[in-house]
Amino acid sequence: MKCSLCGNPLGRDEIGLSKKLISRAIQEGYCYACLSRKFRTTEAQLHDMADAFRKSGCTLFQ
Ligand SMILES: [Zn+2]
Repeated sequence: MKCSLCGNPLGRDEIGLSKKLISRAIQEGYCYACLSRKFRTTEAQLHDMADAFRKSGCTLFQ
């Protein structure tokens, strides 16, 4: 899967975050850079978020 905005290849965490933050049903995903712009946050915060979801056992991040 590639980022819908910039076309960069997406990692599992980026796809997981896109689903968590937007909708599980989405067919597109966004990279960290585009997600941070979209949600007015930083890439570091998004990495922390992915870690927190993984620790909570979310299957999107395993
Ligand atoms: Zn992107």
